[in-house]
Amino acid sequence: MREVKKGSLQFVQRYNQTLILRLIRQRAPLSRYQLAKLTQLSPTTVGAAVEELLSMGLLRETEGSSTGGRKPRMLELNAKGNMVLAVGFMGGQFALCNLQGQILQQHPLVFKSQDGPGMLGELAEQLKAFLEAQERENVLGVGISIPGLVDPETGRVLFSSYLGWQHLPLADRLNEALGLPVVVENDGIALALGETIFREALERGEEDFIYLHAGYGIGATLVLGGEIQRGSGQLAGEIGHMSIDWQGPQCSCGNRGCLETLISIPRLLARYQSLTGTAINYSQFREKLEGGDEAALAVLDYCGTLLGVGLVNICNLLNPQLILLGGDLSLLGAKLLQKLEENISSHALPGTREVTVQIAGPHGGGELAGAAAMVVERMFTLPYVG
Ligand SMILES: [Zn+2]
Repeated sequence: MREVKKGSLQFVQRYNQTLILRLIRQRAPLSRYQLAKLTQLSPTTVGAAVEELLSMGLLRETEGSSTGGRKPRMLELNAKGNMVLAVGFMGGQFALCNLQGQILQQHPLVFKSQDGPGMLGELAEQLKAFLEAQERENVLGVGISIPGLVDPETGRVLFSSYLGWQHLPLADRLNEALGLPVVVENDGIALALGETIFREALERGEEDFIYLHAGYGIGATLVLGGEIQRGSGQLAGEIGHMSIDWQGPQCSCGNRGCLETLISIPRLLARYQSLTGTAINYSQFREKLEGGDEAALAVLDYCGTLLGVGLVNICNLLNPQLILLGGDLSLLGAKLLQKLEENISSHALPGTREVTVQIAGPHGGGELAGAAAMVVERMFTLPYVG
């Protein structure tokens, strides 16, 4: 995953290899002939790039079905022997995954330290010990999902209130310790990447979708034209701070009436308490809802209406094909979806209301698959190649 200088021969070769890898990931199996047609590269160039990828073990050949003559040799990704290490700090787990995002082995992350540098040292030790027990030449890289603000270029954790970390050079330190490329992303981006890469939304032609992560906090990852939109300060998608009531309750961000101040799980539970005088936790709330409790249904209705207002704004602004709802709010399931769909179909502009709203996962496989997807994504991002 080294960057190579634009315009150099090496750059052109890497570019061609990445282009071929991307096409094969999306449309495999493909023959060399089909690749030449799709890339508009010469058969010789395609042949050389394919040979290189075969020798790197990233591709494998299979026999296609014949239409009369000799059976064509088809190319697909070589899942065997190409693995990535995925680390998820929300769930406190790490896993060995294949290039399809399937988890082969999973282990808990164990920490004695509580401070960032101490935890980083222990993480390096755990991963190193794990890799030593593997055929480590098969591991292409490490993807790490962090609940917090991350600079994906440098792999630095800028701030995570959940972990109590600030300005931690996570990728650099782990790269030094493990000798492998390390990619670090925010957990919301990781989940959306899992969906993008492994759910094969792109292969189904869904290039514009929103991954909404709603629970104790609310955020979204925007995928437009098949690319994750990050914004100039890496903050695009902060839908939790979309104000839908300028006179609403004060938010920690300084604004009023942000979605997060209205329908995050603590706010919904507080609303239930104000209606009934009873304090309950989220799983009790879901049980009440299942049992048809009137106050719980009223809170669900409120949540669906307000989140619906937010989604109508998003539909009108970005016109996505698909909205995937993840996070703990998605546990409210079909009842919430129905409310959201009603809102969108009656309030979004004609032409933007034809959006599908779905509960996310288990397609993307959650945080660990998302972390694996980060490494896979870099492999398929021009002009990088593993
Ligand atoms: Zn706010």
